[in-house]
Amino acid sequence: MTVNAEHALERIVIIGAGIGGCHAARELASDHDVTLLESSDVAAGATGLSAGVVAPTLFYGDLPDIARHANEFVREFDGTDAFSFTERHRLDFVSAEEAEDARETASELTEAGFDVTYLERSRLSSEFPRIDSPEDGGAILYGDTGWVDPYTYANALRTDAQSRGASVETGVEVTEITTANGRVTGVETTAGRYDADAVVVAAGWRTQELLPTGLTLPIRPYRTQCVVLEPSEPLDEATPIGRIGSEHLYFRPEHNGDLLVGGAHETVSDPLAASSDADESFTRQVASVVPSVLSGFDDAGFVNGWAGIDVATPDTRPIVDQPPDAPDGLVVSTGFNGLGIMTSPIVGPTIRERLTGERAPFSTAPFRADRFDVSGSSFAYTSTSEL
Ligand SMILES: Cc1cc2nc3c(=O)[nH]c(=O)nc-3n(C[C@H](O)[C@H](O)[C@H](O)COP(=O)(O)OP(=O)(O)OC[C@H]3O[C@@H](n4cnc5c(N)ncnc54)[C@H](O)[C@@H]3O)c2cc1C
Repeated sequence: MTVNAEHALERIVIIGAGIGGCHAARELASDHDVTLLESSDVAAGATGLSAGVVAPTLFYGDLPDIARHANEFVREFDGTDAFSFTERHRLDFVSAEEAEDARETASELTEAGFDVTYLERSRLSSEFPRIDSPEDGGAILYGDTGWVDPYTYANALRTDAQSRGASVETGVEVTEITTANGRVTGVETTAGRYDADAVVVAAGWRTQELLPTGLTLPIRPYRTQCVVLEPSEPLDEATPIGRIGSEHLYFRPEHNGDLLVGGAHETVSDPLAASSDADESFTRQVASVVPSVLSGFDDAGFVNGWAGIDVATPDTRPIVDQPPDAPDGLVVSTGFNGLGIMTSPIVGPTIRERLTGERAPFSTAPFRADRFDVSGSSFAYTSTSEL
């Protein structure tokens, strides 16, 4: 679904300076007239609230070209502006019943060329002294994972986009996408009108409300939470990232030795009414589970906690495409299911392919908008913490 070749593709407006919009702007700015419009500030939505865990091999191991592309991007981009990628092993704990499947997953990923092994519980503590598996099985060990600071990541992309010629305007809210004769013509905003040959809607959970009447995406907003704990002794660089599947919790060390713990996914019908604080029940769950996995957390201090809104799709993968029946030149980038930071490197090449026909270095089919047989938000929600 490329923009009709009879029409010039020069001016592109991108709505939303989250991680998706910033990637799109950086990719397209080198050969188009790109304007990135953000109602608030760069990374003001889900992006700035993210834990920044990067583990594409785990979540996209079935699509190896995509996992590789995402893994390579953060390493190549490392050092751009203030952005850095912190490499760190990741442990995904599994129960004894899950151990056989986990061994198989590890060996399939190894065969596909990824750095993944299965560790028996007895080996966990010798390899990772502060870890005590909460499960009686073991853990899948990923050697190619890490984390980023999402705010710095988005801003480094924004700076790079600007150096390639993009104009970035914050504090400008798009109120309407305008069309004529089945094509987009631009956007109306709180700062006036912008003409465009193509419009990329990367507005997070607000993407749906910006679409022309009658266009309904299979997406729904959900809320998820993080808390940061301070242990009695700071975590060191040997402390891995981890996931406690049975508790739907994940964790990663902070640079100062604290621990960030995330989890608690629930759909919300009104994101504006949802609390941006971590719930007491979630904080209590974290406080009771973490000491059984990591030493030094029996009397941990509570540093802070928060909640944010991301967007779910029926198959947990994003929609980066021109939706069926959308006017020509309209492309959306949304539905990252809590994995938008690690998945974001696919956004630029996929949008370029949709708009210009130039092929991305991986198959973009998993991100097509017409892959669902449902529309609207009536589908059952699957959290990526269950994958
Ligand atoms: C608590 C939490 C933890 C997470 N942890 C991880 C993690 O560890 N790893 C990972 O990969 N992912 C994680 N995620 C998911 C990730 O943060 C999101 O998938 C990703 O940031 C989505 O990016 P986006 O650009 O699509 O949307 P957003 O970041 O929400 O950006 C949308 C932008 O559009 C702007 N906007 C909206 N409407 C308009 C308008 N009308 N006009 C102009 N601008 C508009 C908003 O202000 C916002 O800045 C987490 C998310 C949360 C909430």
